[in-house]
Amino acid sequence: MKISNIDISSYDTLLLDRDGTINIHIIGGYVRNWNEFEFIPNVVETIAYWSKRVKHIFIVTNQRGISKGIYTDEDLADIHAHMIAEIEKVGGRIDGIYYCTALTEEDIRRKPGIGMFKEILHDHPDVEPSTTLMIGDSNVDRDFAKNCGIDFADVDSLKRDGEFEYWVNSKKTIWK
Ligand SMILES: [Mg+2]
Repeated sequence: MKISNIDISSYDTLLLDRDGTINIHIIGGYVRNWNEFEFIPNVVETIAYWSKRVKHIFIVTNQRGISKGIYTDEDLADIHAHMIAEIEKVGGRIDGIYYCTALTEEDIRRKPGIGMFKEILHDHPDVEPSTTLMIGDSNVDRDFAKNCGIDFADVDSLKRDGEFEYWVNSKKTIWK
């Protein structure tokens, strides 16, 4: 579904995937710097709308490109500083970004492992799994939510393959 159509009314904590949910997913590649980061339409406005209605908005994202040496923690911090600035410009906020650089799922921090959710629960004792919603575009996000015991909303993903852009809904290409 479109991100703006997700019903968040029974939740006070939102967990957002990043690539393919907030910004355009680059097929076979990585967002290495701010120039390569492109918001999916309506995402910034939707986060701003949610910001007035929920207690917490966190990003939980796998970023193994760092362990592959494709970009650095500093590059990621710079991307996220720009991203947050754009969200704040329209009145939105992000309360925390949790990312995992591990290469494989042997690391419990890498989604679908629950490590990043455990850290959120530790850092924010008022977060309740029963009122937390995970929003993401992939099966990994769905499995992560299941493993954490929280609800999941599948969001339409905008992907870029070279010069082509297309929407994917539940793994099905819906517009090209
Ligand atoms: Mg994704």
